[in-house]
Amino acid sequence: MKDIIGRCVCGAVEIVIKEYGYFVYTCHCDTCRRMNSGPVLSVDPGPKENIVFKHGEEAITIYHDEEVERGFCSICGSTLFWHNPAENHYCMNAELFDGIINKATFNLELFYDMKPAYYTFAGKRKKLDRRFKEIKNE
Ligand SMILES: [Zn+2]
Ligand SMILES: [Zn+2]
Repeated sequence: MKDIIGRCVCGAVEIVIKEYGYFVYTCHCDTCRRMNSGPVLSVDPGPKENIVFKHGEEAITIYHDEEVERGFCSICGSTLFWHNPAENHYCMNAELFDGIINKATFNLELFYDMKPAYYTFAGKRKKLDRRFKEIKNE
């Protein structure tokens, strides 16, 4: 799929992913859960060259979280992205992109060892712990 448009709740920020499939993953780490009231569902468009900040870049606030940046809309508070500048790697809130989530395949859970016990996603998929080691038989 090409030129997938995403937007935050208030519409101030519009982001385009130039090319992507339908892969969605989640992260159960403490920071994602605290920022998003639960495990954030994300897409992985990769390098900056695959992304266009089409509109509202001035409305984006960056929270510097050790070596990564977490971007959110300073007007409505929507989570926008996780960015590792050293690796030129973006992951974005999947829910911004209607064109992806309507056909999404959900096949990876990260930081599964940090997931609290009170929720679990139904279905089987790959699960990695905080060291990116695969967790079997879960
Ligand atoms: Zn917004
Ligand atoms: Zn996380």
